[in-house]
Amino acid sequence: MKVAIYSTHLFEKQYLIEANQHKHEFILLQESLNGKTSTLANGCDAVSLFVNDDASGPVLDLLYEQGVKFIALRSAGFNHVDLPHALKLGMHVANVPGYSPYAVAEHTVAMMLALNRKLISAHNRIMELNFSLDGLVGFDMNGKTIGIMGTGKIGCVVSKVLNGFGCRILAYDIQKNPEIIDTVEYVDVNTLCRESDIITLHVPLIKETMHIINKETIEIMRPGVMLINTSRGGLVNTKDVIDGLKSKHIGGFGMDVYEEEANLFFQDHSEDVLQDDIIARLLSFRNVLITGHQAFLTREALQNIASSTITNLDAWAGNKISIYELK
Ligand code: NAD
Repeated sequence: MKVAIYSTHLFEKQYLIEANQHKHEFILLQESLNGKTSTLANGCDAVSLFVNDDASGPVLDLLYEQGVKFIALRSAGFNHVDLPHALKLGMHVANVPGYSPYAVAEHTVAMMLALNRKLISAHNRIMELNFSLDGLVGFDMNGKTIGIMGTGKIGCVVSKVLNGFGCRILAYDIQKNPEIIDTVEYVDVNTLCRESDIITLHVPLIKETMHIINKETIEIMRPGVMLINTSRGGLVNTKDVIDGLKSKHIGGFGMDVYEEEANLFFQDHSEDVLQDDIIARLLSFRNVLITGHQAFLTREALQNIASSTITNLDAWAGNKISIYELK
């Protein structure tokens, strides 16, 4: 199968090549997929896409015209794909679900701890030989209430890790996860917002969850609440979070994903003038920690993403339905 791999990053290249074992013909492209770059897939049976590639209806039409029939996502989330449109065109789409819930869950908890214990400020101080502890007071995680929105694969691991810290866990989900039913309390979204010291997001970005964190939900949260988003940027109305940070109602914000990340994340902009005023404002808060969509970035996750991508391509090359196929 001839495959155009869009948005190929240095960090994943070797894993993809090793997992492929020369079975499929790869065209490794640094470009992300959009209307203009869709021609780079000319003559390919399949494309492989990453989180910020544009697989909207018009772009899918362009791919289809060039003979592309298969879309292998190198991500669990598929909010960037117009799935109904792809299926209407007869295209097959598969993701890589659950490649490592531990990677994302552990990064989530790392963000909580780094914000709570002010690790970045502490390190920066010591780099300047300032060993004062004033202003670095955190809180015990033990006994605190953590609200987990979305208790699928990642939220479930987050709850288990935080159980180990002695936290009380509140959970909100449309489906209760039997694996953790005895160790979390399922509540509605408002109760979770009202009672949690830390709120962490692990629902997918869909119509129903878009801006689930907004002015109204923030208003009912505890003063000083910490928010963590390692799921998808669109779950949060970032401007409302900035207002919450300005009024000090929000005491900390950990953000691995951002609504407008597509033209910013995964690229070196160190020589550019920052054009994004929202990111610029977020960078001005000491209690905001930003990572650039790296929660998944562990060796194990990269191996699993690569091997599941090859599993999808192998199935299609053998005229089979892939186990990870989206419907
Ligand atoms: P999952 O499908 O296992 O879990 C999602 C959970 O959300 C499910 O339990 C589901 O019932 C629940 N849910 C769905 N719609 C809901 C709604 N309207 N209200 C409440 N709950 C709802 O997914 P997962 O593997 O745990 O991943 C969760 C998300 O994490 C993905 O959708 C993806 O966006 C994100 N993610 C981020 C990274 C990263 O590097 N930052 C990596 C992988 C995944």
